[in-house]
Amino acid sequence: MKISTISEDLFREAVEIIPGGVNSPVRAFKSVGLPPRFITSGAGCRIYDEDGNVFIDYVGSWGPLILGHAHPEVVESLKATLKKGTSFGAPTRGEVELARIITEMVPSIEMVRLVNSGTEATMSAIRLARGYTGRDRIIKFSGCYHGHSDSLLARAGSGAATFAVPDSMGVPGSVVEQTLVFHYNDLEAVRTQIQENPNRLAAIIVEPVAGNMGVVPPKAGFLQGLRDLCSRDGALLIFDEVMTGFRVAPGGAQELYNVKPDLTCLGKIIGGGLPAAAFGGPKHIMEYLAPVGGVYQAGTLSGNPLAVAAGLTTLRILQRDNPYNDLESKTARLAKGIKEVFINNGVPHTINRVGSMLSVFFHPGPVNCYEQALLADKESFRRFFGRMLDQGVYLAPSPFEAWFVCTAHSHEDIDMTLEAMRKSFKKEC
Ligand SMILES: *Cc1c(COP(=O)(O)O)cnc(C)c1O
Repeated sequence: MKISTISEDLFREAVEIIPGGVNSPVRAFKSVGLPPRFITSGAGCRIYDEDGNVFIDYVGSWGPLILGHAHPEVVESLKATLKKGTSFGAPTRGEVELARIITEMVPSIEMVRLVNSGTEATMSAIRLARGYTGRDRIIKFSGCYHGHSDSLLARAGSGAATFAVPDSMGVPGSVVEQTLVFHYNDLEAVRTQIQENPNRLAAIIVEPVAGNMGVVPPKAGFLQGLRDLCSRDGALLIFDEVMTGFRVAPGGAQELYNVKPDLTCLGKIIGGGLPAAAFGGPKHIMEYLAPVGGVYQAGTLSGNPLAVAAGLTTLRILQRDNPYNDLESKTARLAKGIKEVFINNGVPHTINRVGSMLSVFFHPGPVNCYEQALLADKESFRRFFGRMLDQGVYLAPSPFEAWFVCTAHSHEDIDMTLEAMRKSFKKEC
């Protein structure tokens, strides 16, 4: 008789009163066919579940926790803020300080507006781009996730370019009619589209390193090519750096690849594990926003003191400690080790990595776009995920997600992860 775990009991209860038992779909572990673990706490790179299991965590709350769980300085700043009250609906000093550090770290941002989630950041940036250009049409790329606002929930058809169909029930076709979808890294298709339809486009929105189809880096010239096309056509280039901001370099992917977008969306790390996000750009565009300009955007809890404190402390630590070389070398070693285990066990694979983001595709590759990512073998991933979980390694429960290495992962933790991987393959034979 199988004795159910506390996590399983909680999940059974949850599915009765929360749709799917979770408050964000991928947490349900559906694609790996297991019940999700209910987490009680985290410290550094480790998380603990209701059943007393401990895991080395490579999810990091899906990206925000570049400093690991419960970083002491972040916790201290939260305690200090908490005592003074949690929300005022009036401006606070912290918001100015956070806006200042964002403009210092992210090259293209002169002015920034704080919001509560990445979804809000991208939705608002699109509205701003439409308001600024007076045009409606936008371009996105298949496999890039920009949150769940209506006009961005669109995928590509099988053709090189399609007028998008909604990805979700409840999204009116008329809303995504203004969204064109192209394959990631296919600059030529975008060029042709704009040449044949000049002066129609409000914006191109792109993840400058894609992280929501697994990690897919931009090909040489792709981002600069988009930059040039937008500049010539009078459209805005929006980098959705919700995942890559403060992750792949202090100034995000725009610093790493030296391409300047018009607007940048930030999230995840910017809130240090609390709900905060932002979008920003040059002053002459940002001042189209209310109350200066006519593009409306607002939020009761925007710039919330707790979220601002966690974000500000996180960014200050990143500025002070500059951990990016260290993250790079640790993640490179992890990727190399994974590759060795796969080679020794004859597993077809592709590992894509940019800085401390990496992805494992069970497919010989290459993986340069969503359509290629989809060729990865889901069954191999499902088995791999389950075995790693058994060995105490918590990966994102989907074959199309990034692993995140944080400053709290030590070289020893990387070694333990690789040892767990070797063991999990041995067990299978
Ligand atoms: C996570 C993510 C979002 C959505 O952010 P939420 O805070 O979940 O709304 C948008 N864009 C990218 C690139 C993301 O990774």
